[in-house]
Amino acid sequence: MDRLTTKVARTNGIPIDEIKHVQVLKRSIDARQKSVKINLKVRVFVKEDFIEDRITLPEYPDVSNAPEVVIIGAGPAGLFAALRCVELGCKPIVIERGKDVRSRRRDLKAINRDHIVDVDSNYCFGEGGAGTYSDGKLYTRSKKRGDVQRILKILVGFGATDQILVDAHPHIGTNKLPDIIAAIREKIVERGGVIKFESRVVDLKIKNQEINEVVLRDGSSIISNRVILATGHSARDIFELLYHKKIEIESKPFALGVRVEHPQLLIDQIQYSCDTRSPYLPPSPYSVVKQVNGRGMYSFCMCPGGVIAPCATSPGEVVTNGWSPSKRDQPTANSGIVVELRSQDFKAFSNYGPLAAMYFQKSIEQQAWHVGGETQKVPAQRLTDMVNNKRSENLPVTSYKPGLTSADMSEVFPKFIHKVLQQGFVSFNKSMRGYLTNEAIVHAPESRTSSPVRIPRDFKTLEHIQIKGLYPCGEGAGYAGGIISAAIDGEKCAQACITTIKK
Ligand SMILES: Cc1cc2nc3c(=O)[nH]c(=O)nc-3n(C[C@H](O)[C@H](O)[C@H](O)COP(=O)(O)OP(=O)(O)OC[C@H]3O[C@@H](n4cnc5c(N)ncnc54)[C@H](O)[C@@H]3O)c2cc1C
Repeated sequence: MDRLTTKVARTNGIPIDEIKHVQVLKRSIDARQKSVKINLKVRVFVKEDFIEDRITLPEYPDVSNAPEVVIIGAGPAGLFAALRCVELGCKPIVIERGKDVRSRRRDLKAINRDHIVDVDSNYCFGEGGAGTYSDGKLYTRSKKRGDVQRILKILVGFGATDQILVDAHPHIGTNKLPDIIAAIREKIVERGGVIKFESRVVDLKIKNQEINEVVLRDGSSIISNRVILATGHSARDIFELLYHKKIEIESKPFALGVRVEHPQLLIDQIQYSCDTRSPYLPPSPYSVVKQVNGRGMYSFCMCPGGVIAPCATSPGEVVTNGWSPSKRDQPTANSGIVVELRSQDFKAFSNYGPLAAMYFQKSIEQQAWHVGGETQKVPAQRLTDMVNNKRSENLPVTSYKPGLTSADMSEVFPKFIHKVLQQGFVSFNKSMRGYLTNEAIVHAPESRTSSPVRIPRDFKTLEHIQIKGLYPCGEGAGYAGGIISAAIDGEKCAQACITTIKK
């Protein structure tokens, strides 16, 4: 008998030999007190055999000759839109500017090793979108947006561990995601859908306020009056295209800051109040929120046992983000630490109209590139040095492969962001004693937290408020933040679009 069964028997006064199985339904870790607790919600099978629920995928019929829906972008939103199309009997034609997961790897190597950024194939663009080489944390606060459990079950059906159905903070890991994404693609193609890689969309033709044609980089085009636009928050050329075609878009506030890396051991010591982490506990995450000078400053996309990645999508800019393998076994912990921005912060870029927030974001990424030495090297500073306005004389080794350039963060950020970050880190240290240390390195910037643009849609039909048949979808449209909510939004848009076909 395992320890859990013994505990259940003892706590509930059940004779241990009557317990056939203890099924864990939910698992979470509570590290708020000195003694860390693992909370489990379990179902106990007493004198009753346990029959395992097999996760099965929805039925996917053959859609080779079914009505077509064009989907631009093969990120989580686009792929889940495509799957839902198949499920509901329509043929998805997915158009993706980047390469398939495997071919994408070469281009990631080129960024990390040679500092070369391919504008169509990088950490954000390519099969699976920004989701493929992401961290694969699947926690979402936006439970009201849709059926989170349904998305998790589909991911399990395509090869993710079923532990994501149990963990309060489910995680897949970067090493596991590419195979899951490839399995989704194989299913779409096997059932008659089409996926076109290396096919960047460069124009959208509109006739009588209705979408009519999607034009690709090679000059070919697809005629369609049903288009789901799921190009993600880094597709600046799409935002520019919509703006220049006078298709309504709106500037959207977002958050921006730095990515901080600590030794994982230090985070474990702070969070678990211990010298060394118990083998029963995972590498610890953390989550901090503070109000500083009337602005929110908070941790974002924290990756225990992870790595910082170069996530630029164009040459001449530096962008950071983080990921971790499924075991989270790297020696460092990293997290975005970002400051909430407001519309008035983009005033200097107001001549760009609804693209003001995007140009503000871009200006900081370009400034980081200049300060970093005009390569993918990232401007970096030790954390206590940053707070004390001191340039770091030397920098410890980091997980960020292209390398570091010692810099003062005031060279990268406008004064108001720099000040909030400085004060905020002092405040963080009050919640997490030991956080503010020169063992930690600040990397700049963390700038792609959410879309700087919203593509407005009708809340009922989900069509663009002005263009019939065009469905702005996922994170780039401003209706999702993260893998799960993007996938939910993809399903919703597919469903809304198909309703119009079936009318
Ligand atoms: C390193 C990293 C770690 C992350 N970690 C997490 C995490 O742990 N958990 C989490 O929830 N989220 C994480 N994210 C964010 C997550 O990946 C995104 O929220 C999610 O991928 C958004 O999905 P999407 O489909 O809306 O857009 P995207 O994933 O951005 O997909 C958009 C797709 O559209 C394609 N595209 C763009 N323009 C065009 C065009 N003109 N023509 C054709 N195709 C085009 C792109 O190539 C891309 O494939 C991470 C992101 C990164 C980069």
